[in-house]
Amino acid sequence: MSEKINILGTTRAELTEFFEAQGGSQFHAAAVMDCLYKKNIQNLSDVEGLSEKRMAPLLENFQISPLTVVKVQGSEDTTRKYLFQLHDGRYVESVLIPASVAPDGSRSERMTVCVSSQVGCAYGCMFCASGLDGLTRNLSSAEIIGQLSAIKEHSGKNITNVVFMGMGEPLANFKNLNKALDIIIGQWGLAIAPRQVTVSTSGLAPMIKKLADREEQVSLAISLHGADNATRNKIMPVNSKWQIDELFEALQYFKENNHNQRITLEYILIKGVNDSIEQAEMLAERAKNLGGFVNVIPYNTVEGLEWERPSDEHCYTFRDTIKNLGVMTTMRIEKGHDIDAACGQLRLKEMKKDAETV
Ligand code: SAH
Ligand code: SF4
Repeated sequence: MSEKINILGTTRAELTEFFEAQGGSQFHAAAVMDCLYKKNIQNLSDVEGLSEKRMAPLLENFQISPLTVVKVQGSEDTTRKYLFQLHDGRYVESVLIPASVAPDGSRSERMTVCVSSQVGCAYGCMFCASGLDGLTRNLSSAEIIGQLSAIKEHSGKNITNVVFMGMGEPLANFKNLNKALDIIIGQWGLAIAPRQVTVSTSGLAPMIKKLADREEQVSLAISLHGADNATRNKIMPVNSKWQIDELFEALQYFKENNHNQRITLEYILIKGVNDSIEQAEMLAERAKNLGGFVNVIPYNTVEGLEWERPSDEHCYTFRDTIKNLGVMTTMRIEKGHDIDAACGQLRLKEMKKDAETV
């Protein structure tokens, strides 16, 4: 018997096709989607509202293959990191991030999940744990949705925002990303507002244009980390393929195609590498021309990499330089940043443990 399809990666249109081929209709697909995404069932035999005649072929062809939760770090009301094992023994990570508490003690309902799109990454940025061992494989759309489904089940929380800032380069896995986005955004799916779904990329210019051409559009973040080619080349090998001018041309295209929605420029601060005031000024200029928004991220130390984070004082000076040039800017300095804080680090530890026990 051929292997069953993991239904978490299936769109409503595909499931409708399946039922129609059996003499059923879109209503049967809608009933299944409702159980999957509104009730978050973890076993397909828990689908309700279908006759035996419709259930039998469904169970014969599909199953829900949940991801295995290996480890959870953090606790209720804090950032929680999840380490998952996939069916082939590989690991991926996701992070659940509640809204921070406002000065008046209130907290919004925002609940963000940071998902991975690949096992490892081919792009080898010099600051990043995810690219240390290169790319192992793409995640399927079912494995991307599986992260959200497992976190919903484990935490009991309602997810309001999704960011593709975990392991991997989402735009290098476009087909599966695209399908996962349809399921995340679909009213029949996870029903998360498109603006609250952010794809982060290291700068694959042609794919940024492809993302801009999607019918239902999402938000975009760019891992810039260097405001000129010389600086960016030192940090991100991808810049030798798509240099900054070509990248910003693609960003402009995205913006124009995307109702002028603001694009976030991510900028990790690494001591002595990209943290000069001159870079801050160039960055502000680029952000201004694009009408973008800058998120400054003090570098998280990664085991095996020698770079360091600048002093808090220097981070504030860098941020204020951009702010004073009239660009919207955010920066969060977290305590305990070096405890597996950056994406890819939990997985790295688990892989080492596995290697030691072999
Ligand atoms: N491949 C995509 C998405 C995943 S990486 C991309 O590059 O945009 C997303 C983000 O992880 C990076 O932009 C960076 O903001 C963060 N990151 C990775 N390593 C980090 C580190 N050592 N310190 C701080 N942030 C890090
Ligand atoms: Fe890959 Fe993004 Fe990490 Fe670069 S920052 S190695 S593109 S995951």
